[in-house]
Amino acid sequence: RTVTTDMSSLTAEIEKFAKDKKIEIDTLKIREEYRRDFIGNVSHELKTPLFTVQGYILTLLDGAANDKTLRKKYLQRASKGVDRLIYIVKDLDLITKLEVGDLHIEVAEFNIVELIQSVFDLLEMKAAKKKITLTFDMKYPEPIMVNADKEKIQQVITNLLVNSIKYGHENGTTEVSVENLIKNKVIVRVTDNGEGIAKQHIPRLFERFYRVDKSGSREEGGSGLGLAIVKHIIEAHNEKIYVESVLGVGSEFSFTLEKSKSQPVIAK
Ligand code: ADP
Repeated sequence: RTVTTDMSSLTAEIEKFAKDKKIEIDTLKIREEYRRDFIGNVSHELKTPLFTVQGYILTLLDGAANDKTLRKKYLQRASKGVDRLIYIVKDLDLITKLEVGDLHIEVAEFNIVELIQSVFDLLEMKAAKKKITLTFDMKYPEPIMVNADKEKIQQVITNLLVNSIKYGHENGTTEVSVENLIKNKVIVRVTDNGEGIAKQHIPRLFERFYRVDKSGSREEGGSGLGLAIVKHIIEAHNEKIYVESVLGVGSEFSFTLEKSKSQPVIAK
């Protein structure tokens, strides 16, 4: 009787051991797949700008360098390709740090309205090139103090605005608003009337390297990491990010932030 009990507990132990091992192996397999995918995607992203730069250098070496006008033109284009490589590598560095939880969130109090306006200033030229108007929905914006990592939230707003310009139509509009949500939360919305996103792509939008237009032929293509970075930053703050979009109509990306307890008193 004792032996039987021992045998059955031994069997249970072996079964548990096998189950744990299987979970361990499955986790390792997923990680390995993830790593392989990541490397595959990175090399794919780097290939296009690298070949572009190489193309211009070879053309210059082939004789274009002797022509003053062509020399300048090709060097400028090669330089643009290098800029793109730097941009991608910077995003890769950031996403890697975010994914391994290596990036410290430094929470401090700041005025979100002022931050949005500073990003507007930085992107004004980029928007103007496409005749896109950037608007803030408050006519006389009052300061709204929030508790967050200012630099990282600046990156979030920049990425969302850059996308609204990239995927916006000529003469389009991007509107940003900040609204009180519940007692201690605000919601920042970035709304465009650009190309919009078909329903089936929405669940995968925040995955790194996920793009609706897979051809990668887009002139202004980013790194495919912009939204993945945005999601990580917002989640590192324990906040939420949302997207609503209708193909052909436009998109709205929004995220929550913690409102600071001390709000400036505005004299009216
Ligand atoms: P990318 O570098 O390709 O812009 P992102 O991670 O920033 O990478 O965005 C992922 C994809 O989501 C984009 O390739 C695009 O298809 C889609 N997307 C993002 N923002 C918008 C937007 N405002 N309007 C339409 N599509 C968008």
